[in-house]
Amino acid sequence: MKTLLVFEYRRGKPAEANQELLGFAAAAGGECAGVLVGAESGLPAFGGKLYLGDIASLGEYDPGRHAELVLQAAQKESPDLIVFLQSSYGWDLAPRVAGRLKAAQVSAVTGLAEGGFETACCNGKMRRLVKPATKVAVLTLQEGSFPLSGTPSGTPAVEKLAPSGSSAGLEFAGYEEPEKKEVDLAKAEVIVSAGRGIGKKDNVPAIAALASALNGEMGASRPVVDAGWVDHNRQVGATGQIVSPKLYVACAISGAIQHLTGMRNSEFIVAVNTDKDAPISEVADVMVIADVMPFVAALTDKLKK
Ligand SMILES: Cc1cc2nc3c(=O)[nH]c(=O)nc-3n(C[C@H](O)[C@H](O)[C@H](O)COP(=O)(O)OP(=O)(O)OC[C@H]3O[C@@H](n4cnc5c(N)ncnc54)[C@H](O)[C@@H]3O)c2cc1C
Repeated sequence: MKTLLVFEYRRGKPAEANQELLGFAAAAGGECAGVLVGAESGLPAFGGKLYLGDIASLGEYDPGRHAELVLQAAQKESPDLIVFLQSSYGWDLAPRVAGRLKAAQVSAVTGLAEGGFETACCNGKMRRLVKPATKVAVLTLQEGSFPLSGTPSGTPAVEKLAPSGSSAGLEFAGYEEPEKKEVDLAKAEVIVSAGRGIGKKDNVPAIAALASALNGEMGASRPVVDAGWVDHNRQVGATGQIVSPKLYVACAISGAIQHLTGMRNSEFIVAVNTDKDAPISEVADVMVIADVMPFVAALTDKLKK
């Protein structure tokens, strides 16, 4: 299988999320090349062939010309898969490329499966297997689904391309800053999350104390956020943040699919629950069968010592 990764460039440097493309390539195996509209002074750490369009002439975003560049690279590489991030760039560009190639497009891929790709459906309650019916498929990757183990490395072998396509008649106006988040859970290496089973808002500080004793951040399931116990920017899951920390501690969280969608790619998962058969046990590396608050207090005490 041959894969063409469509790297992204933001404000003068390769996007951090590019490493998810590399994570996908590592998981998929086979040959792999990349394509980027960027500058030679800031190439992504990638040890393969990289088709480069000059950002000075193509601009940070111009769907017509950027799609043309990807198509040129695809013509040279004849890939089976053309892979974008599930970002504003990927959302806009992937269907343009798929349409031109008459290729199947699979959006928000969360995993690889036998002969196809896994995506979420029914608001994240279920997973489905999608098998493209065309030889070439265009994918976008759901954020957090393909973490790269280790640091990206390598210097690409650059081949410059100059797309001849015309502009799509859109002008790139610039970026608007998002509302500042109190916390970016996607970057946390340790997350301790509170579920409904903690019982009441007064118990939230004890969960936060455990997170802090582990040098981590506190997350939460949706009912805890909906109850107003924890701020929405700490919600983990399909409608919250997608995370992949080294350690995820789920405190009294049942493991509904919408929650699992957000944290199942964590490296090591500890679940504390009174119910040994709670669905979280399917993804947990360690299942602690205990009453959550006494356990959390004892563990925090021990860590502080
Ligand atoms: C469209 C949609 C989007 C959604 N998005 C999200 C999302 O982004 N994130 C999310 O989390 N949910 C989301 N949900 C909600 C999701 O379906 C579940 O309802 C939710 O994840 C359940 O949260 P919970 O595990 O904290 O609570 P519960 O399911 O009520 O589980 C509580 C758990 O605590 C355990 N427990 C109880 N008491 C104790 C105790 N004393 N000690 C130890 N364990 C105990 C119980 O055994 C149980 O397993 C979404 C739902 C929909 C429909």
